Amino acid sequence: IDLNSKPHVVLLSSPGLGHLIPVLELGKRIVTLCNFDVTIFMVGSDTSAAEPQVLRSAMTPKLCEIIQLPPPNISCLIDPEATVCTRLFVLMREIRPAFWAAVSALKFRPAAIIVDLFGTESLEVAKELGIAKYVYIASNAWFLALTIYVPILDKEVEGEFVLQKEPMKIPGCRPVRPEEVVDPMLDRTNQQYSEYFRLGIEIPTADGILMNTWEALEPTTFGALRDVKFLGRVAKVPVFPIGPLRRQAGPCGSNCELLDWLDQQPKESVVYVSFGSGGTLSLEQMIELAWGLERSQQRFIWVVRQPTVKTGDAAFFTQGDGADDMSGYFPEGFLTRIQNVGLVVPQWSPQIHIMSHPSVGVFLSHCGWNSVLESITAGVPIIAWPIYAEQRMNATLLTEELGVAVRPKNLPAKEVVKREEIERMIRRIMVDEEGSEIRKRVRELKDSGEKALNEGGSSFNYMSALGNEWEKSWKTQSSETIT
Ligand code: UDP
Repeated sequence: IDLNSKPHVVLLSSPGLGHLIPVLELGKRIVTLCNFDVTIFMVGSDTSAAEPQVLRSAMTPKLCEIIQLPPPNISCLIDPEATVCTRLFVLMREIRPAFWAAVSALKFRPAAIIVDLFGTESLEVAKELGIAKYVYIASNAWFLALTIYVPILDKEVEGEFVLQKEPMKIPGCRPVRPEEVVDPMLDRTNQQYSEYFRLGIEIPTADGILMNTWEALEPTTFGALRDVKFLGRVAKVPVFPIGPLRRQAGPCGSNCELLDWLDQQPKESVVYVSFGSGGTLSLEQMIELAWGLERSQQRFIWVVRQPTVKTGDAAFFTQGDGADDMSGYFPEGFLTRIQNVGLVVPQWSPQIHIMSHPSVGVFLSHCGWNSVLESITAGVPIIAWPIYAEQRMNATLLTEELGVAVRPKNLPAKEVVKREEIERMIRRIMVDEEGSEIRKRVRELKDSGEKALNEGGSSFNYMSALGNEWEKSWKTQSSETIT
């Protein structure tokens, strides 16, 4: 080991831009704040047209080494009906040999290995190699609390979680209402439930948990997670909230017309509508949303995907090329009527540029955690429209705990959200007095997040403390190797 070189950290990202983006940001943060070298292993997704572009901008300037592991063929291992979560879990299980081989072949010995939520089976790889091991949860503390508490709930709760009459209690945390549970808990007989249950066992075996959030956002839940009474075993794992990490808007690249259009709109006048990298709506819901946007008489940008039979995460593994004719997705004459007022963007938008633009006044979002952070750190209120994963919990956190969002009354529910309600929610934020209150609160959170990241802030301190720990053990190992 070369004592003049730097400690090196290895990250493993699961597929999907919602997973890769926060891992890339964590890598950059470790390089810039701890002055380490970072290698990121990722599993490429050949369905995402936006991935090369995201990687390109993450590499400018090049701070981390990024290595793509070849995606294993899992088709014979899963049911064709398997959920997105199950596919991710199985894929990340099958990637282990390749990850092991890749880490063993590195010219340096990593000071730490950090895996994401779907990669916890690779903690075993770090253990076998005798390397410090961490899990990175790019979500909030309440979600983490539920995840590690599921093995207990599994014993305590009889019958389906979604059919319970009472919210499910987690010590020291906000209870989880049956209709809020994460997707893998919707059906206890489905494979994704047993995979998720396994997470609850595996996460606490790490040497620490990094989170893309910050202490002051959820002080009570972080308190509960650190309480010795909270599950005992969990309390032994230190939790490091090191966020809010999010991409910076660099040069705009493609789609600059969109930003030119935004330049011409008044301050805080545009509704931005997007359902993340995987969200889709039913045709019926798209028609209502189109009417709602039109009736609100506000300007808007809407990232549009091909409708699916039912609202869900169908686009995750199957993104189209964006070239399809969209006119059939909207009410008759919609595209003509909204000219100059609204823009529809097929498939993918430069969200980070849009969210940083002063003309954006509200984000109608599926509440994926990256989108939530991008909205809060830009000081933009949210209309919470949860669809999949842990988004129903995120929506509750935003509306009931943090007061930075409004949400449809009947979501999550089977029914379609009607145009009148969509119109009303948009106007509540863009026009009504209530909107300025919400805007004020989200700005306070924006400041609180910045404070956490700046020198001396909680997230800064947690990241530096981790860096110091890694550096110390790396130096000890290096000197042991030499002697
Ligand atoms: N994103 C984007 N353009 C889009 C849709 C998504 O740039 O049209 C980015 C968004 O800025 C965020 C990520 O993709 O960083 C999506 O992550 P999130 O956690 O919000 O949702 P997920 O896709 O994981 O459900």
